[in-house]
Amino acid sequence: MVSKFPQMGSSIFSEMSQLAVQYNAINLSQGFPDFPIDDRLKLHLAQAAESHFHQYVPMAGYGPLLERLATLTETQYGRLINPQHEILVTAGATQGIFAAIQALVHPGDEVIVLDPSYDCYTTPIHLVSAHPVRVPLGADFLPDWPQIEGAVCSRTRMIIINTPHNPSGRVWNSSDYLALQKLVAQHPQLLVLSDEVYEYITFASRPQSVHQYPQLWERCISVSSFGKSFHCTGWKVGYMVASEPLMREIKKVHQFLVFSVNSVAQVALTAYLEEVSVALLGDFYRQKRDYFARLMQTTAFTLLPCEGSYFQLVSWPTAHVESDMKLVRRMVQEVGVAAIPLSPFYEHPPQNQHLRFCFAKSDTTLEQAVERLQKIK
Ligand code: PMP
Ligand code: GLN
Repeated sequence: MVSKFPQMGSSIFSEMSQLAVQYNAINLSQGFPDFPIDDRLKLHLAQAAESHFHQYVPMAGYGPLLERLATLTETQYGRLINPQHEILVTAGATQGIFAAIQALVHPGDEVIVLDPSYDCYTTPIHLVSAHPVRVPLGADFLPDWPQIEGAVCSRTRMIIINTPHNPSGRVWNSSDYLALQKLVAQHPQLLVLSDEVYEYITFASRPQSVHQYPQLWERCISVSSFGKSFHCTGWKVGYMVASEPLMREIKKVHQFLVFSVNSVAQVALTAYLEEVSVALLGDFYRQKRDYFARLMQTTAFTLLPCEGSYFQLVSWPTAHVESDMKLVRRMVQEVGVAAIPLSPFYEHPPQNQHLRFCFAKSDTTLEQAVERLQKIK
């Protein structure tokens, strides 16, 4: 059998989590919380399971959840959307991204992917015989607009953006959104796939979204994840918002990819959304970021700016010259802490020794990890 993806192995996140288990290491690699979800959410799940919600919900999502998400989009970002036609509940952000690319990108199109970037964008682009065009972010991990503008041409169908950014934790400011708006205005065929899974995990600014920019609405698809917002990554439930003409196309793919998403989880999330405030998430993770940063001051690592997400980038102490892949493999074995190297996030990794730590962990886990990291000089 000829492999369609001969170069592809398992993801760096699977690899590092597996190494963490193998070496009994503290796992600050793959991004998931190690603390329990809210008891209220557990209760809603149990109640939904006790009730009669065990059959297919409508293809686009459980009606009351769609209504609730429309209200959330309006209160958070001021965009009024039609819950029946402009929202789609997905099996995590990953499936939404896959469906959007399959539905909207044509063979031969180009799609701008900003490096470093999360790993789930390029494979769906290849699967529609389109071409990812990797454009480096600036050294500060924020968009380099002249470079992006230079890469967009008449073949460019889509640009994929992600803020708060995985892996860097940087957050766009309004001038970035305005630059995006200008770019979209200049290129009538260009769509924006906005990966907003960490939208509520911001530390210095309010949550931001493409939905705050009416001139972008017709051309944007946003992707959200309850896994990030409610600490339940294993549930794999997320949603997308897009104008009706775009969403109509995305639904055509979605109905044959999954048809509909886990009914019980959707019912539980609907009830939970009635009583929880997403506004608290930023404060919750700001405390984690600050605590981790304070602890890390006792180590030889240098921390880079982190304004959102639950990832902290660090520079490895300069004395070492090996690759970041070797560093993390050695660190997990010799020190017992798993981290994520940055090179897998790039098409052409620069020479760097940045590592990503996930701080969505209990204070005890963070303390124990840092105690081990102090051994690295
Ligand atoms: N986008 C980014 C930037 C991510 O970090 C992740 C990882 N969780 C996803 C998308 C996928 O989210 P989900 O688990 O909801 O599919
Ligand atoms: N988004 C998670 C991270 O960046 C990984 C999720 C996965 O393993 N697919 O760590």
